[in-house]
Amino acid sequence: MRLLLVEDDAMIGEAVRKGMRQEGFVVDWVRDAGAAEHALRAEPYDLLLLDLGLPGKSGLDLLEELRGRGENLPVLILTARDAVADRVQGLDRGADDYLVKPFDLDELAARIRALLRRREGRARPQIVHGALVLDPATHGAVFDGRELTFSGREFALLQALLEQPGAVLSRARLEERLYGWGEEVESNAVEVHVHHLRKKLGADFIRTVRGVGYMVPKAP
Ligand code: CA
Repeated sequence: MRLLLVEDDAMIGEAVRKGMRQEGFVVDWVRDAGAAEHALRAEPYDLLLLDLGLPGKSGLDLLEELRGRGENLPVLILTARDAVADRVQGLDRGADDYLVKPFDLDELAARIRALLRRREGRARPQIVHGALVLDPATHGAVFDGRELTFSGREFALLQALLEQPGAVLSRARLEERLYGWGEEVESNAVEVHVHHLRKKLGADFIRTVRGVGYMVPKAP
C-alpha cells in the first residue's frame, strides 16, 4: 500500500515516514500542497496523510479541491490544531478520519489499515482468498492451515493482487505499489517476488498473463 504524506514539520514527517515504512507501507513525503498535487497526478496512492497547517495553500483547501474534482482516495488528517471546529471542518470537507498531534504511530497505522479496509469493502481485518488468510496488521499468513512468512514486499505484492482477484496488474503498476521515491528497483524485482510467492503458495496461485502482467484468479 502506497501512502502520500503531506507534512511540513521535519521531525514529524521523518517519524511518520519511518514508522509507517516499518509497518510495511510505501511512503512518499512532500512538504506542501503544490508538491502533493504533483505527486497525486504522477503516482497511484492508496491513502493521503494530510497535515492542515502547511506553508502556502492549507491542507483544508487542498482537500476541498481534491474532493471537488472527484478524487476519492481515503484522507486522514494529521493536525496540531485540536479545536473541535477544525476537526469538524476537515471531516465535512471530505476527510475520512483524523489524528490530533502528538499521536501514537501504532494508532496511526491501525487507522490507516481501517480506512484501507473500508475502501475495499472489507469488514473483516483479515484478507481471505480460498485457503489463504492474510493479516495486514501483523503481516502473518496462513495457507491451508500452515503458517507462512512473507517478506514485506512479497506481502505487499500479494495484497495488491488480492485486492482485485481476476484483474491483471502490469509489472509497472506493481512496481509503483511496492517502491516509493528513491527506492532502487531491480529490473526483475517483481519477477523475483512472484517466484518466491509461487514457491510458498504453489505455481498456480499467481498466473502470468503473457505480455500483460500478473493476476490471482477469483477464489472458486
Ligand atoms: Ca504543519
